[in-house]
Amino acid sequence: MRLLLLFICLLSAVWAQDSIVDLTILHFNDFHARLLPNAQGFGGAAYLASAIQQERKNCPRCLLLSAGDNVQGTPVSTIYRGLPVFEVLQPFKIDASVLGNHEFDYGYERINDFLAAAGHPLLAANFLTQDGKVFTEASSVIIERDNLRIGIVGVLMENLVPSFTTPAKLGPNKMLAALSTLRSEAAKLKDKTDILIALVHLTREDCDRIVTELPEYAITISGHDHGGKEIMFRAEDRVGVRLRSYGVEMGRLNLRYDKASRKIVNADWKRIPISSTVYQPDRVVAQLVEKWESKVRLVVDMKIGEGSSKKDRLQTKVWIEQVMRDKTGAQFAYISTGSVRDNLPAGQILARDIWNISPFDNMLVRANVPGRLIPEWIRGTTQLEPNKLYGIATIDFLVEGWRNSKDEALRIFGRALPLEGPFLRDALIEWIQTRRTVE
Ligand SMILES: [Zn+2]
Repeated sequence: MRLLLLFICLLSAVWAQDSIVDLTILHFNDFHARLLPNAQGFGGAAYLASAIQQERKNCPRCLLLSAGDNVQGTPVSTIYRGLPVFEVLQPFKIDASVLGNHEFDYGYERINDFLAAAGHPLLAANFLTQDGKVFTEASSVIIERDNLRIGIVGVLMENLVPSFTTPAKLGPNKMLAALSTLRSEAAKLKDKTDILIALVHLTREDCDRIVTELPEYAITISGHDHGGKEIMFRAEDRVGVRLRSYGVEMGRLNLRYDKASRKIVNADWKRIPISSTVYQPDRVVAQLVEKWESKVRLVVDMKIGEGSSKKDRLQTKVWIEQVMRDKTGAQFAYISTGSVRDNLPAGQILARDIWNISPFDNMLVRANVPGRLIPEWIRGTTQLEPNKLYGIATIDFLVEGWRNSKDEALRIFGRALPLEGPFLRDALIEWIQTRRTVE
């Protein structure tokens, strides 16, 4: 009897050992078309590729995932409508990306071109065509690595319209609620997989909610919030990670996982800085970067003026609103901080800096609007007469959002403003060229 017990104990120990496996996830998010390193020498597609190759050398059951917003943010993306980014990322051999809100910036039809160029699945389980099919053809993938069946489900924020894009860019397609879609996909995949990963492009709060409220997913790899996480987010035996944007760092999540209990036994997470002084650029990727960057260099690396001091994001917003007033003669101007994507540098200012600040094809729009319709966050403390007309300048993207707002006052205000005007970026460049200096 004692012997038999010992035998059973030994056997179950062997089984338990068998069910415990190692898995490594390499990841990045919000790359935003930053093909070249930044001014401090961090990031750049060729250096990121090289770092990924190095990490792959000792990487059991290795996966590479991108958590969305691969495109938009630099002239090469704006001019060629995102596509070069997917061509440059192809040699990375990404296992799966999730669509981010910015993958919609060139209209939903362009996503079909991304699918063709990417060479890997772009997941979006909650983005459906009119007739209810998953737009990107893949809501999830199952990847097998050495006796481990890994299910990856991708979702992005359901409130794309009006918060992140325009009705025209979403087209006739529809979005489902992200978290409930994750839940229903998990139910479908559970028996076919040993582990589930949520690959998501969502707000910070929603990313953490998946870790705390959806125990089906052992791991949440996320993007959208550019600040990333300092440390891994944990709830019970589950983890969530996210990195800083623009490819300035990559993540390495090392896991020991128990297939039998579907629980993480051990997890550690490293954020690896992508420094161009540490890594040699990957030759193949560097050639692709050069191919595209050389096309746009002549246009955008032109000096347009000087900045007397560096402006942070908020100061840059204030400056843009000044330009908007100057250009349109409006009394009030408003741009959201989210539409200001970079800082205005001190010293020489290139057209490229303005593209980085305003990568979207936003149009500068203006109208005369009665005082009673103007929200307080635009007029500030200025007292307005209800029926007098005041000039308002803003961007078409915000007007679209206001027109579709749940708030009736905001809808009326949005309808009082037009959707057409010159490109904001051109207005900013012209303003600097005329004045030569930004104080
Ligand atoms: Zn995003």
